[in-house]
Amino acid sequence: MQRGSDVTVLAFTHDRWVFPLPPGNRFPQEKYRLVRERVELLPGIEVREAPPITWADALQVHDAEWVRRIRHGLLTRREEAALGLTWSPELAERTLHATGSTVAAARSALVAGTAAALGGGTHHAHRAVGRGYCLVNDVAIALALIRSDGFIGKCLILDLDVHQGDGNADCFADDPAVTVVSLHGARNYPFVRVPSDIDVDVPDRTGDDGYLALLDGVLDGLDAHGPFDIAFLLAGADPWEGDRLGRLSLTCAGLEERDRRAISWIRGRDIPLVVTLAGGYGEPIETTADIQARTVELAALHRC
Ligand SMILES: [Zn+2]
Repeated sequence: MQRGSDVTVLAFTHDRWVFPLPPGNRFPQEKYRLVRERVELLPGIEVREAPPITWADALQVHDAEWVRRIRHGLLTRREEAALGLTWSPELAERTLHATGSTVAAARSALVAGTAAALGGGTHHAHRAVGRGYCLVNDVAIALALIRSDGFIGKCLILDLDVHQGDGNADCFADDPAVTVVSLHGARNYPFVRVPSDIDVDVPDRTGDDGYLALLDGVLDGLDAHGPFDIAFLLAGADPWEGDRLGRLSLTCAGLEERDRRAISWIRGRDIPLVVTLAGGYGEPIETTADIQARTVELAALHRC
C-alpha cells in the first residue's frame, strides 16, 4: 500500500447541469455523466458536487464586457459560432457549476495533494472572449480564487489536450508565476495561436512512441521553470486515435502512459495536482469516458 492510501481523493462533478443543444451540435454533453459514473466505481475516490462560482469570481480573470455578455445572453451569432454553442440560461448556469468544480479541486489539492474536476480545462477562453466550447477559463479563475485564499507560489499548467491552449496563454501572458505548457497537434485548432511559455507542435498521425518522446523532452526541461507549488493537468482524451477532432494516433495504452508520466513527474515532486478533463470527442464517446476515468484513477493511485 502506498503512503496515505487511506486518504480519499475528491473528484468534483457538474454533470447534473445540462443545457439544450441544437440539432446537429456534436458537443459530447453525455461524456460528463459517463465519466462520473465510472469514477464513482473507483476505490479511494469520492465524487462530490462543488458550489458554483459567482459572476464576480469570473471578473477576477475576464473582462467585464465579456462576463456581461455571457451572463445575460448578449452574444452575437458570430460569437456563438466561435464558441460552437448556442447561448441559453442553462448554459450560463452550467458554466458557473463547471468552473466551481475546478475551483473546488484546486482547493482540495492544496490540502490533500491530488484532486480532480470531472470537466474543466476550458483552455480556449481568453480574458476578453471565449471560443471552442469554452466560455470562461476555469484554471485561471481557480488560480485567482486560491490566490485570494492566500496561495502564493508558482503554478504549472501542463496542457496535454490535442488543441493548443490559446486561452491559457492569453490569461497568463503577463504572469511570471505561471508556466504554461501546451503539447498539441501541429495542424489542429486553434489556427490563430497565442504563444505559451512552452509550445510543442505534434505532427499528424504521431503515435505513442513519438508522442511520449516529445512529452519526456518537455518534462525533462520543466524543473528549470520551477519549483512549482501547484500543477493543473489538462488531460484531454482527444489525442486518441479514435477521436474525430484529434488527428493524432495515440492508443488507449499510449494515453495511459502519457498520464502516468505526467502525474508521476508532478506528484514525484510533491506538487499538488489538479486534474481536469479538457477535450475528448471519440466515437463511441464511451471509450473517451473510459480514458478520462482512467486518468482520474491513475491520479488517485499516484497521489503520494
Ligand atoms: Zn481539445
